[in-house]
Amino acid sequence: MSQEDLNILIVDDSPTMRRIIKNTLERIGYKNSIDASNGKEAIDMLKENSINFVITDWNMPEMNGLEFVTEIRSQSEYENLPILMITTRGMKDDVLQAVQAGVNNYIVKPFTPETLEEKINKLI
Ligand SMILES: [Mg+2]
Repeated sequence: MSQEDLNILIVDDSPTMRRIIKNTLERIGYKNSIDASNGKEAIDMLKENSINFVITDWNMPEMNGLEFVTEIRSQSEYENLPILMITTRGMKDDVLQAVQAGVNNYIVKPFTPETLEEKINKLI
């Protein structure tokens, strides 16, 4: 899949973090992204847009990242949607729990553009 074909949904409750992720994605060649501030909003945006990659935070109000991932993984249409989690939660148990919920890869904040690029490339 080429970079232009990737429609990325960024989910994070921090507007600053959403901007950082969006800017970083643009720097590494991914120009198409939209964003949501929690899991609930993200589910609506998934339904309304043709998204083929998700980057999500864990700690968020309304519906957190773990609940969001669990919810969409229970729906067959999102079974194979690549999900990358970017979070401050760096404990081994956290990573394990996220992977069990259906996250494909995991980045602990703060992150570098190189790390983001590497993790995305591994999933597409
Ligand atoms: Mg957060």
